Amino acid sequence: MRAMSTSLPQLPSITLHDLQGFITASGLPKFRAKQIIQWRNKGVLNPDNMGNIPKNIRELVNDKLCCQPISLTDKQCSEDGTRKYLFTLKSGKSIETVLIPEQERGTVCLSSQVGCVLDCPFCHTGTQKFEANLTAGEIIAQVLAVKEDLRQNPMQEGLHNHVTHLVYMGMGEPMANEAGVHQSLAMLMSEEGLHLSRRRITVSTSGLTPQIKHLGEEYPVNLAVSLHSAINAERDILVPINIKYPLEVLRDCLNAYPLAHQRHITLEYLLLDDINDRDEDIQALLNFINPERERINLIRFNPYPNSPYSGTPTERMNSFAKALISKGIRATVRRSRGQDIMAACGQLKSSKAIIS
Ligand code: SF4
Repeated sequence: MRAMSTSLPQLPSITLHDLQGFITASGLPKFRAKQIIQWRNKGVLNPDNMGNIPKNIRELVNDKLCCQPISLTDKQCSEDGTRKYLFTLKSGKSIETVLIPEQERGTVCLSSQVGCVLDCPFCHTGTQKFEANLTAGEIIAQVLAVKEDLRQNPMQEGLHNHVTHLVYMGMGEPMANEAGVHQSLAMLMSEEGLHLSRRRITVSTSGLTPQIKHLGEEYPVNLAVSLHSAINAERDILVPINIKYPLEVLRDCLNAYPLAHQRHITLEYLLLDDINDRDEDIQALLNFINPERERINLIRFNPYPNSPYSGTPTERMNSFAKALISKGIRATVRRSRGQDIMAACGQLKSSKAIIS
């Protein structure tokens, strides 16, 4: 009987060396492994669609590997080109991935967990209980599935049609799934994998400082931190991991994080009406930030049904940004994308749950 596919090595994350092992152990030529990896890196995971691979090798790959650890269940396209995908894992659980196309780049926002181990009260994913860490194969498969979708359904004119950047900013706390995230980074950055530069990958975390340190040592990609407040008492509520790793600990950790040339750490700041958008919040932020190494990304709150918060009005948002900029801080207001398809993380999954 065939073993459970989830326990098989996964094609999206397998190394060339290991694939060569499977192929040569069956007395088949080693060079086929390289051909399969080339298909894989293009986004083709179904061996039956690998044109130059003979049938006996396709069957072997199908038998020995879990080729498609995720399958597309739903896709929604926004008027602005943003695409939101709902994937189902072999376990039956579902995750979301978002493609954010711009003129010069295509960014994929990846999920790293089903649900989230943390419980930030403003976050829609936080309302869904933690179910599982994703494997490296399930993380990489999200990138490959988007590549395949772009090949089959090219982006509208004026928007980039390739995956150029990755952000680990979807469902889950990436730093609470170190094994899956590190292994996926190894493959995504390797020459035999997608060969993406560290400058094109961003890991976003709520501030698990020991894991941020490991990331800097092993895979020093761009770092984004969900700050949301620079006042401990306030951040303890908004980002509860702050109780364990308060702002002083986070400060030391960020100062030590290795940055690529001319790169900055991004401090994400979701503006919530009358919660963290007051004058004292601006002052605390000015006291916290290290302007040489960090910049602030102000985010408009993407409301979802029954959310306990509302977003800061535009006028206040602009004055908040101006107050920071006038003190020499790099601050930008992130444009909200895909609002017509509820593109904030966790929202497609929940809307499907409401419908079904
Ligand atoms: S904001 Fe991030 S860390 Fe917090 S609950 Fe949501 S997904 Fe988890």
